[in-house]
Amino acid sequence: MAEVLVYVDHVDGAVRKPTLELLTLARRIGEPVAVALGSGAENTAAALAEHGAVKVLTHDAAEYADYLVVPKVDALQAAYEAVSPAAVLVPSSAEGKEIAARLAVRIGSGIITDAVDLEAGDEGPVATQSAFAASFTTKSRVAKGTPVITVKPNSAPVEAAPAAGAVEALAVSFSEKATGTKVTARTPRESTGRPELTEAAIVVSGGRGVNGAENFSIIEALADSLGAAVGASRAAVDAGWYPHSNQVGQTGKSVSPQLYIASGISGAIQHRAGMQTSKTIVAINKDAEAPIFDLVDYGVVGDLFEVVPQLTEEIKSRKG
Ligand SMILES: Cc1cc2nc3c(=O)[nH]c(=O)nc-3n(C[C@H](O)[C@H](O)[C@H](O)COP(=O)(O)OP(=O)(O)OC[C@H]3O[C@@H](n4cnc5c(N)ncnc54)[C@H](O)[C@@H]3O)c2cc1C
Repeated sequence: MAEVLVYVDHVDGAVRKPTLELLTLARRIGEPVAVALGSGAENTAAALAEHGAVKVLTHDAAEYADYLVVPKVDALQAAYEAVSPAAVLVPSSAEGKEIAARLAVRIGSGIITDAVDLEAGDEGPVATQSAFAASFTTKSRVAKGTPVITVKPNSAPVEAAPAAGAVEALAVSFSEKATGTKVTARTPRESTGRPELTEAAIVVSGGRGVNGAENFSIIEALADSLGAAVGASRAAVDAGWYPHSNQVGQTGKSVSPQLYIASGISGAIQHRAGMQTSKTIVAINKDAEAPIFDLVDYGVVGDLFEVVPQLTEEIKSRKG
């Protein structure tokens, strides 16, 4: 069976969920071979094996932390040359997309970014994408070279599928370009204790209707009752009520959770562009004509200051 390279996103050996989702998709088209780089790379093996990796190629070097993406591209290319895979799958983070794009250029292959599904096809893997703010769903396949495909978080379930996960050291020699852009400082983001916005299974977002930074505590309380991440519309971010890192939309982050709850958000096209592929969409808005209601699965016409706290209490009592 053909091998499929899966680029591993991990933090000191802790594999992030989107990579486990990639393994589910990789198993549809071949045998997953994982590529884990940097500090703690070898510690990823158990989780990757549990989810279907037949092999885990690892390499650690100071360059991965000290320079931007090129050392990782060099290593992924080395893995590509060692394995001759049927496809290369990379998580659709900003970094993942840059790594994938650079690899595709180097190996002369076509690339598909932000896939939301992947299936085997007679002429190679077929990727589903959601285009023009999810007005269209497209299916495409790479027509040249080895498909390089980046996949959005929450596009597939995480499934246990135990495999050998044999760890092998990857031989990497860095190119001259590897050290072109040095990391000069790092400031860890303060942890909110909530899941990462782009990876969360549930996102609760607030917009201009929240009417003030202090009122975002209502949105946060609902999010916490569900173990969700908090998002915000650009109007709320521009007003300084919530950090830009939480903005959902065309000029913010793109999310695709199982459940998206929009409160006090009108549903402008630029907001929809970042959340329209969510599996189930719920909106709370006091204006029954708000465009957000055109795309929801469930809508509540009402004042968020009444509806959201009631919803939070109800969820808490049912969990109770
Ligand atoms: C180039 C460009 C890029 C953009 N990028 C983004 C982006 O990435 N993300 C983004 O979100 N926007 C983006 N925008 C802005 C976008 O066009 C909208 O202006 C923005 O999304 C509106 O935010 P909103 O829905 O919170 O506010 P509004 O459109 O003002 O809607 C507020 C909603 O809250 C409702 N409401 C008010 N009070 C209550 C209440 N008490 N209870 C319930 N409902 C209430 C109102 O009925 C209304 O529907 C972009 C715009 C441009 C031009």
